[in-house]
Amino acid sequence: MLVVAMPDVCAGEMGPGVLVHGGAGDVDPARRSDHVDGCREAARAGFAVLRSGGSALDAAQAAARVLEDLPMFNAGTGAALTEEGTVEHDAALMEGTTLRAGGVAAVRGFKNPVDLARAVLEDGRHVLLVGDGAARFARAHSFEAVDEASLVTARAREALAKVLSGRGATGWAGGTIGAVARDGRGGVAAATSTGGTVGKRLGRVGDSPILGAGTLADDRACAVSATGDGEGILKVGLARVVALALERGEVAESVLVSALERMRERTGATGGLIVFTPAGRFAAARSTATMSWAVAGERGQDAGI
Ligand code: ASP
Repeated sequence: MLVVAMPDVCAGEMGPGVLVHGGAGDVDPARRSDHVDGCREAARAGFAVLRSGGSALDAAQAAARVLEDLPMFNAGTGAALTEEGTVEHDAALMEGTTLRAGGVAAVRGFKNPVDLARAVLEDGRHVLLVGDGAARFARAHSFEAVDEASLVTARAREALAKVLSGRGATGWAGGTIGAVARDGRGGVAAATSTGGTVGKRLGRVGDSPILGAGTLADDRACAVSATGDGEGILKVGLARVVALALERGEVAESVLVSALERMRERTGATGGLIVFTPAGRFAAARSTATMSWAVAGERGQDAGI
């Protein structure tokens, strides 16, 4: 099932399945196995949805929700904090068969932003809602707001303190999450969710909720979720670069490696990518020290970092 397995790229054939990432970055060696286990749990949860007849979209959403709820990742609970110590979530979800898509950005006070993204997608009128408008939409769609303190972990507070005191590099946190899925009909879907960068300005929106940058699904090409330096990913339109190359028939894992190289050359940014094609090939690649990932599907399971 796994045909390429090198430290910075892996790929295989899966048929129906779910592939997730737990963010590009440089996770402390002591915490790496937890990140891999979290990804495993999410990929399995996503695949369980496919097995019970759910679509690729349902599966990507379910896997992303599991990762949002695990406080070790920079999404949902445990998300990176803004320079004011608040939580502003970004998330997006897209279906490759219909190109239906939904996203929220800089939204405050909800536990599972990927579910908000799904509601935006189902509503169908707009693709992306931000800030107060997104929160108002969520309340109108019966999402319960939570106390922001319940989303903030001690680790997120420490990371912010480091950045504010100049002891930590300002920039992306690692731990953003993403999921790509392929269902039995060859439909693909992608989800990405994040707290963004540590100490970001209020209102900063990264690549994750922007279609063609951090998230994209199109049955003519693939489902893709990106992670890494969001400003760089936005500048090169990383997910679109990957999708266009796959639509031309290029090989998934080579496409990921060259898209990351191109981003580094043009912007200095590093990151990671996961992809699932309608034909059932999956691949993951990174230009960072780590990116936890896991795949679960009809042909088995695997995981790494
Ligand atoms: N890409 C995310 C952002 O810039 C951060 C990450 O992937 O860790 O918001």
